[in-house]
Amino acid sequence: MLLLARTTRLEDVSSPTEGLSLFYTDLDRNFVDVREIEKMGRKAVDSNEVFIDGLPIPAEDLIGEEGKGFRQILHGLNPERILVAGECIGIARNALARAAHYANERVIFDRPIGQNQGVQHPLAKAWARVESANLMVMHAAALYDAGEPCGVEANAAKLLAADAAVEATEAAQITFGGFGYAKEYHVERLVREALLFRIVPVTPQMLLSFIAEKALGLPMSY
Ligand SMILES: Cc1cc2nc3c(=O)[nH]c(=O)nc-3n(C[C@H](O)[C@H](O)[C@H](O)COP(=O)(O)OP(=O)(O)OC[C@H]3O[C@@H](n4cnc5c(N)ncnc54)[C@H](O)[C@@H]3O)c2cc1C
Repeated sequence: MLLLARTTRLEDVSSPTEGLSLFYTDLDRNFVDVREIEKMGRKAVDSNEVFIDGLPIPAEDLIGEEGKGFRQILHGLNPERILVAGECIGIARNALARAAHYANERVIFDRPIGQNQGVQHPLAKAWARVESANLMVMHAAALYDAGEPCGVEANAAKLLAADAAVEATEAAQITFGGFGYAKEYHVERLVREALLFRIVPVTPQMLLSFIAEKALGLPMSY
């Protein structure tokens, strides 16, 4: 497992982010208790509570420089946000495509439900939000690929894409009526997956706090 652990006591470092080291080490269950957390979605990947007590770690399992593990972890955070934002765009596009297909096929009172503006407009609005969020995702990804700072853009991309995915999946679900709640049509699972990405890897509140500080120069609030 990849493990970030404190190797210098808090009272001996100038900042709490110093004195943490990164390891790639064996998950020895004699010292590690792993308990699965049941959850509403993301079933393909387990999430667990992990309790580590007295795990011995050989020095050669250290990655990089001792005490600098937090900085090393930071390198992965922006691409993770961009990646998650990309997943949101994919989920949203899939939901909208399913909804448009269904709205063209389902006929009520001799016309497809998709001919009604009340059905069209939420889907069209969601499409516009998704595609504009995608521009921020691509902008952040291009900055990252160019080796440029991309923290604000990566955070904004994740914020916008997750919100767009929630809106798009909800609009898709209502388009299916009662079948939107049925597993058979797959939209309900897209709703569940989109909701996860509002929370992970970082919540909208923390994204907004970061953007307020870094893009607008407001005082750090957390
Ligand atoms: C399925 C799943 C998989 C996950 N996988 C991973 C993983 O692989 N690795 C990993 O490290 N983590 C993982 N997480 C954890 C996830 O990143 C956190 O749950 C998430 O960042 C929120 O942190 P928290 O749960 O500690 O919430 P808390 O920090 O307890 O926050 C609770 C609420 O209070 C709000 N809040 C807190 N402080 C402030 C503030 N100052 N101002 C305004 N609002 C505030 C938060 O925004 C949130 O709404 C996973 C979570 C889930 C659900």
